Amino acid sequence: MSWDPRQRAMLAEMGFRVPAASVMAEAVDVIETEPEPIVVAAPPPAVVSVAAPAAPSSFADLDLPALREAVSGCRACGLCEQRRNAVFGNGAVQQAQWLVVTDPPDEGDDASGEAFGGDAGRLLDRMLSAAGQRRTGDEATAFVTPIVKCRPPRGRAPQPGELDACEAVLARQAELLRPRVVLAMGLQAARRLTGLTEPLGRLRGRVHRWRDLPVIVTYHPAYLLRSPADKAGAWDDLCLARRTVND
Ligand code: SF4
Repeated sequence: MSWDPRQRAMLAEMGFRVPAASVMAEAVDVIETEPEPIVVAAPPPAVVSVAAPAAPSSFADLDLPALREAVSGCRACGLCEQRRNAVFGNGAVQQAQWLVVTDPPDEGDDASGEAFGGDAGRLLDRMLSAAGQRRTGDEATAFVTPIVKCRPPRGRAPQPGELDACEAVLARQAELLRPRVVLAMGLQAARRLTGLTEPLGRLRGRVHRWRDLPVIVTYHPAYLLRSPADKAGAWDDLCLARRTVND
């Protein structure tokens, strides 16, 4: 596989190292041929649209700060019982270009109340930067939030009723932030937002829809830390998200 200079710079931002043999091949490509286009899978013939409950009135009229406050004390499902802190998410404070929806909070998130600290958070920030997005500072363009805001006990998968209850929060976040694309990171986020139960690898490479928003599926940063060879695939997913926004 060959990479053009822009792709190589972004891959470097993500911490992905292109093998030396590829560097040589790329040098030849750049001199003799046009850069290889990024190939992404075509969207499925039928659009997958997920029916979801409307935001309950307790969330529907809230602005972002009020919604954050409501979530901190939310008791709409059983996940409130063992959480230490609800994880509302962070990033853009008005309109977000990207809404990044991740798997449920981990133990560190639950302890801090913040999404994505540590190495996974640093990789996420590099991935966003590579795609021209950022979740921190006054210029933040992305908002990162988990699919459910409270950590399920012992890290189990959230149950359907818990996902239903917390989707009301996510729906209100989407209404307020008006993203142009949703990036689903991780299997649980991907299955919920696509309404499909296929393996994550089969959900990647196509455009799904959730509440009239395009959804792109990719790997969770914690998984990429364990399986760095899949960073190249994650880069393809980020490119598809960029293309989807620009179409
Ligand atoms: S997971 Fe969501 S719906 Fe359930 S208590 Fe936490 S914030 Fe409320």
